Amino acid sequence: GLGLNKSIKSLNQTTDSEESADNANPADTSLLMKIIRQGLVESKLDIEIQRKDPNSPLYSVKTFEALHLKPNLLKGVYAMGFNAPSKIQETALPTLLADPPQNMIAQSQSGTGKTAAFVLAMLSRVDPTKNYPQVLCLSPTYELAIQTGEVAAKMAKFCPEIKLKYAVRGEEVPRGTKITDHILIGTPGKMMDWGVRFGMFDMNKIKVFVLDEADVMIDRQGHQDQCIRIHKCLPTTCQMMFFSATYDTAVMEFAEIIVPNPIIIRLLREEESLDNIKQYYVKCKSPEEKYTAICNIYGVITIGQAIIFCHTRKTASWLSEKMSSDGHSVAVLSGELTVEQRIAVLDRFRAGLEKVLITTNVLSRGIDVEQVTLVVNFDMPMDLDRKADCETYLHRIGRTGRFGKAGIAINLIDSSLAMQICSDIEAHFGKKIQLLDIEDAEEIE
Ligand code: ADP
Repeated sequence: GLGLNKSIKSLNQTTDSEESADNANPADTSLLMKIIRQGLVESKLDIEIQRKDPNSPLYSVKTFEALHLKPNLLKGVYAMGFNAPSKIQETALPTLLADPPQNMIAQSQSGTGKTAAFVLAMLSRVDPTKNYPQVLCLSPTYELAIQTGEVAAKMAKFCPEIKLKYAVRGEEVPRGTKITDHILIGTPGKMMDWGVRFGMFDMNKIKVFVLDEADVMIDRQGHQDQCIRIHKCLPTTCQMMFFSATYDTAVMEFAEIIVPNPIIIRLLREEESLDNIKQYYVKCKSPEEKYTAICNIYGVITIGQAIIFCHTRKTASWLSEKMSSDGHSVAVLSGELTVEQRIAVLDRFRAGLEKVLITTNVLSRGIDVEQVTLVVNFDMPMDLDRKADCETYLHRIGRTGRFGKAGIAINLIDSSLAMQICSDIEAHFGKKIQLLDIEDAEEIE
């Protein structure tokens, strides 16, 4: 089995100085979301299916039994607590398991069951009587590969005959060795070395090729090139599976290179919206005045929790020290924390141990803490050209149908640039951002 039991020591620590914007790294965000996620993200929305060949049959299943899995694999699925397929799995699994194999591109937001789906397909396709690699799964980082491997190891709990191996940094195979494991899960560089450069297994015998987190993968051009080189060595009969949380042009262009004649399934995403949010701005002359504004607001908001977004780590730590010394209990989430530290901070905040979370952009998306009623932009979100970053604004403030409760957003404006960004955001969304006179902040409740 996998039995390597890797632990994740830290996220890729950014080398940014404290002064520069503390922005989210897609691989880190994806990993953190995976780790803090408790279960499936349910969606009320529909699946969209596209396929070139309208004659190819397409089924959907409501139970895992209907997939006719090997009994020990089914047992593993149930042992993980999965009772029924998730929405994306209902449609993806019959195609992934079909004979003859079909290629698939699947896109849905994280947490909807993609990993579990392709891991099940990988395990199903293995012929454990043949001792050579048959399945390759590529992930963008070491940590994400380990996460996938752990899911595979759990699901294969009752299939000890299936052997998995990590192809990641730190794993060394002596030159000249032939790898006998059935499934290799790893990063593109190591997979290239083992399969293409050193011939430690026969690329021609690969039956299933999985590309996970493709949107994170293309974040690094080198990765994309390595994936394509590995892909070129695979037999044309190999089943290609391509997974992504997003569906932008760059991802789809990459998908088209990797996956010929695919069935494309997409789970539409519940859009964040500003509909239930009361938006305000407060004019301040200095950071100290911003601080005073926060204290005034904080005095007024009695229920719920608040998240305050700052542009840099330096501002975040300055603010948290100031608030702490004034007796507020605050938590800070910023880029220098390890993944364990980030999880600990979020867990405490979720549990209500701190009322205020001060953060940089490290996790603009995905802090869906239900009890947050107030979001403060200590600094307005802007892109590298110092223009309004409307998307980030929406992620910070917006709510989806799931957390549709009303909320309050307050923007602290201390410069003409900040004012311009605020007006641009207002115009972009066509939703009024009202001036709030902090002297009578009572009006916001
Ligand atoms: P994604 O790859 O889309 O991010 P995952 O496969 O990691 O999604 O699934 C998200 C979470 O839901 C995980 O905690 C996983 O164990 C759980 N999960 C996946 N499929 C099911 C299912 N059919 N029933 C219950 N929980 C599931």
